[in-house]
Amino acid sequence: MRWTRSLIPTLREDPADAEAISHKLMVRAGLVRQLAAGIYVYLPVGQRVIDKVNAIIRAEMDAIGGQEITMPVLHPAEIWRQSGRWDAIGGEMFRLKDRNQRDMCLGMTHEEVVAWLAAREIRSYRELPQIWYQIQTKERDEARPRSGVLRTREFLMKDSYTLDPDTAALDVSYSAHRQAYCKIFDRSGLRYVIVNSDPGMMGGSGSEEFMAPSDAGEDDVALCAGCGYGANVELARAVPVPAGLPEAGRREVATPGARTIAEVAAQLKVDPACTIKSLVFMAGEQVVLVLVRGDHNLHERKLTRALRAEARAAHPEEVLKHLGVSVGSVGPVGAKGVARIVADESLRSGAYVVGAGRDGYHLVGVTPGKDFACDWADLQVALVGEGCPMCGKPLAVERVIEVGNIFKLGTKFSEPLNAMYLDEQGQQKPIVMGSYGIGPARIAAAAVEQHHDADGIIWPWAIAPFQVHLVPIAVKDAAQMAAAEEIERGLAGAGFDVLMDDRDERAGVKFKDADLLGVPIRITVGNALAKEGVVEIRERATRADRKVPSHRVLDAVRDIAKRLAMA
Ligand code: ATP
Ligand code: MG
Repeated sequence: MRWTRSLIPTLREDPADAEAISHKLMVRAGLVRQLAAGIYVYLPVGQRVIDKVNAIIRAEMDAIGGQEITMPVLHPAEIWRQSGRWDAIGGEMFRLKDRNQRDMCLGMTHEEVVAWLAAREIRSYRELPQIWYQIQTKERDEARPRSGVLRTREFLMKDSYTLDPDTAALDVSYSAHRQAYCKIFDRSGLRYVIVNSDPGMMGGSGSEEFMAPSDAGEDDVALCAGCGYGANVELARAVPVPAGLPEAGRREVATPGARTIAEVAAQLKVDPACTIKSLVFMAGEQVVLVLVRGDHNLHERKLTRALRAEARAAHPEEVLKHLGVSVGSVGPVGAKGVARIVADESLRSGAYVVGAGRDGYHLVGVTPGKDFACDWADLQVALVGEGCPMCGKPLAVERVIEVGNIFKLGTKFSEPLNAMYLDEQGQQKPIVMGSYGIGPARIAAAAVEQHHDADGIIWPWAIAPFQVHLVPIAVKDAAQMAAAEEIERGLAGAGFDVLMDDRDERAGVKFKDADLLGVPIRITVGNALAKEGVVEIRERATRADRKVPSHRVLDAVRDIAKRLAMA
């Protein structure tokens, strides 16, 4: 491809609204442009990266027997009503009406369509298992679209679905996907970890996420170097370092003006870990008092799971109305107006400082479970250094980008949508499903997050938009251009993707753009060609240069390619 005939609008400045490195670099290198919040145009270079990622995904899905199909973006509400998700999903779903006032929605995922299709096309156990996949646009009205293409409202997803006769067969399909995913992320050049996750709105019996470590991520995972345990912090159990006061024995003390945990701990000269945070939540009309240790944070997804219902933090006026005290003085002992108290597991042992239920006072030496009754649940966000639930070794916590996930769905969709089959005994049974997603744009952006330097992107070989960036220095020099064209023909003929920067620009400008674009191999054709018959080959990652006779370029590129493709 020739630069002068392409749309590669590189920019010197970072876009004003960008925080994530991948966002800045993908805009500056001319890969994407934002049309509206969370809605992007992919320009030619960006499209090439996505095409490369998709080719890897297709190859690995085909290798496990996946069959590519295309399901629609526009869905009738009916199938979503049947699965129960028309009501269960809130503002994230784009809804609309057709000209006959029928409810429709834009597909945010395709379990319903798959179950609808299976209900019509699968009759007997002889037709199972099946693996269906697509690489198709998803529409989600994300609450906070941000970070460039990492979280957009319209995005491509490779979603696949497995249909099996029973859970043992599902386990086989699931592990085939797990292995295919490892190959996809390995080939794409990503560092990643696999962690247990909360199946959330998917339901089902087991799920894992593929997480690429990066500061630009929106998830945290707890990882154990000792035994390999890994889980999203929304699920991760951790064994807290024990805390609590040395002696029980309840007494009330004055804490004038102290509202926060830090203020109370300072006034009473105790560690924050010896206090309890009393948080008031509304689960529908019910008032729920939620207790975590003073040095801990509540994870709201854990609370949702413990309550088996969505809950929201009560407003200060609601706290005053239902409990008769202000937020800073709420406590569990003799609490009035509370339907239920749920305490974090770490509070099972020890005595603590709690709000006294009247302004200006706290209770010291309160023993949960004895001084007040409560339900127990794991509610806290796992902290660095707390014990691994499997082996006790200290946990690390890392920021990550979720690039893919795999779910065992079971019969959550096949039963309501009536996707049944006849087994060997002629009995009707529900098909057992699995669902598996990957975001190609997230792979691209995560690769940029993990592979860049101060000057630009450093693409992993397999997903680079081009493999060779050819830079003739003096495009008006006919001999130099002829030599560059010959190199271009030779490389293209051998199957390499070549971008030739044929702009009549200063060398410095072209080199800056080459660094920004991040193509793995740069070849400079300059004065040295006429003088010594050599061109310069430079690797983007190491910036290692070498001079190569022009007739040896193809061999030299092949050598580098072999090494980079294996890295
Ligand atoms: P998240 O927790 O980040 O919102 P999710 O659990 O909603 O992700 P899935 O519905 O399982 O994600 O989608 C499968 C894959 O699609 C994700 O692993 C991710 O790679 C990609 N993906 C999901 N949402 C987006 C989005 N808004 N923009 C870009 N890619 C996305
Ligand atoms: Mg989501």
